[in-house]
Amino acid sequence: MDHRLRRANLIDRLPGIEVDAFLVTGLANVRYLTGFTGSNGQALVAAGQSVFFTDGRYTERSRHEVPDLDRVTYSASFWETLATGAARLGVRRLGFESHHLTVRSHERLGSALGEAVELVGCDEEVERLRWVKDEEELELLRTAQAATDQAFDDVLDLLAIGVTEQQVARHLETILRRDGGDGLSFDPIVAFGENAAEPHHEPGHRMLEEGDVVTMDFGALSSGYHADMTRTVAFGEPAPELKKIHDVVRQAQQAGIDAVRQGVTGAEVDASARAVIDGAGYGDAFTHGLGHGVGLEIHEGPRLSSHYADALPARSVVTVEPGIYVPGLGGVRIEDMVEVTADGCRVLGAATRELIEL
Ligand code: ZN
Ligand code: ZN
Repeated sequence: MDHRLRRANLIDRLPGIEVDAFLVTGLANVRYLTGFTGSNGQALVAAGQSVFFTDGRYTERSRHEVPDLDRVTYSASFWETLATGAARLGVRRLGFESHHLTVRSHERLGSALGEAVELVGCDEEVERLRWVKDEEELELLRTAQAATDQAFDDVLDLLAIGVTEQQVARHLETILRRDGGDGLSFDPIVAFGENAAEPHHEPGHRMLEEGDVVTMDFGALSSGYHADMTRTVAFGEPAPELKKIHDVVRQAQQAGIDAVRQGVTGAEVDASARAVIDGAGYGDAFTHGLGHGVGLEIHEGPRLSSHYADALPARSVVTVEPGIYVPGLGGVRIEDMVEVTADGCRVLGAATRELIEL
């Protein structure tokens, strides 16, 4: 990963936000800019020199992971240590990540820096850089997706009368790792029958019965990059309405995928898919946005939702995941990650989007 290039991209933005240094405290942003994978690290990014901060637990790890930056290990107050570093760099206006700093931390930062340094709250500067993936990131997302595809193939063998949602979820956790992932993107969602009417059902002791739909939302992790995929399959012959719903969701997803390309807004893509579901009379049953960016975080920008006016950049990766949820009956969601290109998108997953009837 070219962390130096990523920091250079952030440094290029500093004059525009009128700061001479930028304090990065969001952990995924720190990882993106430095390569550090531990649980406590910060970066002070400036044109002259950038500095990485962590505590004594990570001195050794950061020596390997962040070899190209000045590293400071602190044992007492991070804020005092940072203030010393900022003074050494002659920082007058310091940008910080408003959405990653608590009110208390902001107070401590302010009093450590004193009157001489002005604090400037900034919004998603690094996140916006992260929207556009480089080739290595795309490769990691493809690797995570390949493990997820394989796990989907494999988990179908487990579906049998009497197996519980929890058993399927635990099995998914095992095979996502076995099939090439190095962890889980998130705890798998597994919902049988009427439970599939909840978009984020917590797997429980419900046993699989003939005629159930099975919604599984899961993903593998590859070097910090998340896959995210959902399929709803039928165990035995499903109710006719569920078959119809699956067909509507599949068409809505296709309409969403067809609408994705560089330059369209998240709202436009959302509207394309939503129109199909509205047209089928299920508008009120599609209760969430169409999708979200994926990368070092499972949910990041850009978003596909009705109020999202930002244009999708090429090489961003977003999910397209329409769903219809009918209380008492069940529900269907189909989700795939796509890579945005100049004239369309590439679907990362390989699994069929047709209804699988087991
Ligand atoms: Zn998902
Ligand atoms: Zn998702």
